[in-house]
Amino acid sequence: MIRLTRKVFTDLSIWMIGLGLIIGIVFPFFVAWMGIPREYVLKPWFFVACISAGVIVGALNVSLARTVVGSRLKLLGDRMQYVTKNLKGIKEGNDISCTPEQCQISVDSEDELGHSANAFNSLVETLFESIETENSLNIFNQMLGSQLGLRDLTEKALQQLLLHTGSAAGAVLIESEGTVNVSISQGIRNVDTLLESDHVKSVLRNEKRIQIKLPDDVRVEGVLTDFRPNEVILEPVLYKEVMLGLIILATAKSFSNDDLTRLNLFRQGLALAMHNAMLFDRLERLAALDSLTGIYNRRFGMTRLHEEFGRSLRSNSPVGVIMMDLDHFKTVNDTYGHLAGDRVLIKFAKIARSVLRDGDILIRYGGEVFLAILPGASRNDVINISERLRRKVEESEVADNDDVIRITTSIGGVSYPENDVANETELIDLIDKSLYKAKESGRNCVVMSPMN
Ligand code: GH3
Ligand code: MG
Repeated sequence: MIRLTRKVFTDLSIWMIGLGLIIGIVFPFFVAWMGIPREYVLKPWFFVACISAGVIVGALNVSLARTVVGSRLKLLGDRMQYVTKNLKGIKEGNDISCTPEQCQISVDSEDELGHSANAFNSLVETLFESIETENSLNIFNQMLGSQLGLRDLTEKALQQLLLHTGSAAGAVLIESEGTVNVSISQGIRNVDTLLESDHVKSVLRNEKRIQIKLPDDVRVEGVLTDFRPNEVILEPVLYKEVMLGLIILATAKSFSNDDLTRLNLFRQGLALAMHNAMLFDRLERLAALDSLTGIYNRRFGMTRLHEEFGRSLRSNSPVGVIMMDLDHFKTVNDTYGHLAGDRVLIKFAKIARSVLRDGDILIRYGGEVFLAILPGASRNDVINISERLRRKVEESEVADNDDVIRITTSIGGVSYPENDVANETELIDLIDKSLYKAKESGRNCVVMSPMN
């Protein structure tokens, strides 16, 4: 094996000058053999002249080699040192500053030196690409660790995925409890069509990546993106073999092997983070919702009341709160059974939700008593909504075998600022009183707390 030592040119000098010396010694004999009279050439002065010429040519050769080859080898060495310095810097946490001009060698020869320089360039390129991938993966994983909300998580993840795979458009779809939703998308025109796509359905079913190349002469059915994609990837996101969703990426170019490697690495981190976020979402929902009706439970509802009422007090904006109590509900249970009673409660929650507006908060206060917070509602709004709800409940029917269960509800209401209350305890106290009056006055009616 050839070893590259620091004394390459010293070795070369010894060989070249030694060869010059031998040629200088041999040359007079050679000339004599060629027929030149011996008395002219086998003389000490001729030997001295030939040996000197041989040594001088050897020395000249060495210096030429030093100039021509040495300078190029020095450039290679300098670049290697620069790259090494950079790599050490990265370990200490510095940024990489290794542009092709700084770290690579421009190659204009096809000989061994050119070959070495080319090999060096591609080595540097591969090295820095893998460092870049590692860095971006670290940033990606750090970012994932700091996001617990599913929406924020997928939004940030998509940005990074687009950036590191050279994609111009993409989306993250989430599968939860049997339904698939688009959590986030960028550069995709009609997001809803994604859910209808056969490719999306196929990835969800087979849990395998689909990579579609779209040659120029193929017409893209209902082009989805804001530009003409050349390649689209649909990547399933699985955690412990459970489908969590899928990533869609579209590029106007082609995905390189590096892009695919990065997508693979990012997807693994994203799967874990999505799993955690979904678990967190579910726990949060479980802690906040009533298991029978699916609306907010009392504990969470009271926190929301505190927030909403506090906000109204601070901004002096109106808020209405109503309490609904089903009339003679005990009789429903006694007559039709507890399960039928449960269905009536579910139906009531459904009706109440349909009457309330989007920002209104519906709470199961306890048993067959419900509370609704109506932020921004005037006293008139509160009365109208309560009346509409009372009527809708009165008109509703719940089927029970051959029977039809009918119910009514009594409603007590308070409106701020017309009812001057300082905190939620005072507010609930006033509502209780109005509800009691509603029950007293024959049930199936709305009673507002009188204005003070
Ligand atoms: P009023 O018109 O005065 O409100 O009479 P009411 O019968 O509705 O009131 P009461 O407080 O006497 O009875 C409430 C009933 O609601 C008693 C309880 O068994 C029933 N209940 C409470 N929670 C549930 C539930 O989750 N499911 C069912 N099926 N019944 C429930
Ligand atoms: Mg009741």
